[in-house]
Amino acid sequence: MSALPPFALGRRRLLAGALGAAILPVLTRRADAAAPISGVRPADWYRTRFGEFEITVVGDGDLDLGEPAAGFPGHPRDDLTQLLRANFRSTEKLVLPQNCFVVNTGRQMVLFDTGVGYTRPFGPHTGMLLANLRAAGIMPEQIDAVVCSHGHIDHVWGIIGGDGKPNFPNAQVFISKADFDFWTDEARGRTDGWVGVFVQGARRNLLPVRERLTFVEDGKEVVPGVIAVSSPGHTVGHTAYVVQSGNAKAMFIGDLAHHEVIMLRRPQIEFAYDTDPRQSAQSRLRLLRMLAQERIGVMSYHFAFPGLGHVAAEGEGFGWYPLPWGVNL
Ligand SMILES: [Zn+2]
Repeated sequence: MSALPPFALGRRRLLAGALGAAILPVLTRRADAAAPISGVRPADWYRTRFGEFEITVVGDGDLDLGEPAAGFPGHPRDDLTQLLRANFRSTEKLVLPQNCFVVNTGRQMVLFDTGVGYTRPFGPHTGMLLANLRAAGIMPEQIDAVVCSHGHIDHVWGIIGGDGKPNFPNAQVFISKADFDFWTDEARGRTDGWVGVFVQGARRNLLPVRERLTFVEDGKEVVPGVIAVSSPGHTVGHTAYVVQSGNAKAMFIGDLAHHEVIMLRRPQIEFAYDTDPRQSAQSRLRLLRMLAQERIGVMSYHFAFPGLGHVAAEGEGFGWYPLPWGVNL
C-alpha cells in the first residue's frame, strides 16, 4: 500500500480502484447541481493593440429599432426579410449595438462618439458608456478628445451628464461645423417629430461645451493619428475618421452604414433617419469601395460588437469580415 495521499495518484488509477468507486458519485454529483440563470449583462468592452496605439471598444448598449422594415420604408419588405433570414438574423426586430471607441495614441486618449447619455431614451440597457468605461479601467477625466461623427441622439447625447456638466471634464470636443449648425438650430428644435427632439438634445449637449469645441475639416488632422473624412448624407456634416499608427490603418465609420448585413449587402438602401438618403448612399458606396480596395480596417459604431473588421466587395455589395476575437496586447 502506497503512503501517498489519494490525490497524488493518476486519475485513471484512482477511479479504477475501490476508492474511485467510492468517490465517483461525489465527483459526478457536481454536474447535476442546478445554478440559477444569472441574467446579468456583462460589461461590454474589448481591447486590442493597433500599431503603437491601443483601441478599447466600449459599449453604450443596444438600440432596439423594432420591425426592420420600419427603418427602410422605400425598400421591398420581402427582400429585407430574406436577407436577414439568410444571414441568421432576427426578422422581427432590428437591434443596433453602440460601439464607442477609445483610441489611446500614447499621447492622448481619444473617444469616438458618446452614446445616448443619462436620459436613456432607448431603455435601461442604453446609456451605459460611463459604466463600461470604468469597467475597462478608463476614467472619464482621462479622455482628452471627444470626436463626434455627427449630431444625432446616439452619438452626442452622452457629452453632458444629468448635472448639466461635461461627462469628460478635460476633453476638447470635435464635430463638423455643418452638423453643429444644423443640429443646434433653435428654429429646427421647435419643429414636431424626431428632428425637433434630436435638435433639443444636441443643443443640451453641444452648447455647454461651445468654448471647448473645434470644427473638423475634410482631410485635416484632428489630433495626431486621426484624420477627418467628410461623408455627408446621413447628416449634412457626417464625418468618418481615419486612425493610423504605422502600417495599422482603420476608419471609424460612424453611421456610414448601420448594419453589417442590410447596409453592406444593399449599400444603395435608404435609411429612415438619413437627412439626404441619396447622398448618404453615395458616401457609403464611395468609402466602402475605398476601404475594400485598400484593405483598410473598419471601426463600426453599429455593427455587432466589437465592430472591428474589414469589408470586401462582393456581388452588388460588400461582405463583412469581423476581426477574430483575440487578445493582442
Ligand atoms: Zn447612430
